[in-house]
Amino acid sequence: MPTGLGTASLTRSFHSYRPSFDELFDRIFNNFRQTSQPKSKPRENLNVVITLTPDQAFRGGQINVALLTELTCPSCSGQGWIGVYECWRCNGNGILSGEYPVIISFPSGISDNHVVRKPLDYYEIKNLYLTVHFRISEML
Ligand SMILES: [Zn+2]
Repeated sequence: MPTGLGTASLTRSFHSYRPSFDELFDRIFNNFRQTSQPKSKPRENLNVVITLTPDQAFRGGQINVALLTELTCPSCSGQGWIGVYECWRCNGNGILSGEYPVIISFPSGISDNHVVRKPLDYYEIKNLYLTVHFRISEML
């Protein structure tokens, strides 16, 4: 029976991944400013370490990784204004920030150092992979 492990928040468990939180935030933030990334630029990995118990690893399941990101406000297209009115949705900022859960599934019977890599295009992040490294330990 697969088990849901709840949410691993990148904003709260910032000790468990690299690059550092500031570095990551800059990179994601810049990603929204630079819409024309050179195509030849290789994707980089955002590495997250998730520790499972042997039982969880045996059963398999999925975990939500909460990704802090910013998106262009869809109501005002990033302008901050709708006509002469301040945008109600983003309060005139033109951007919306929030945590977006990325669901990472892992099969049953995975071994230590199992890696799951997921592109983040869906979240408007074009040049990053979310790379989850599963560790197995009794000590949680
Ligand atoms: Zn807006």
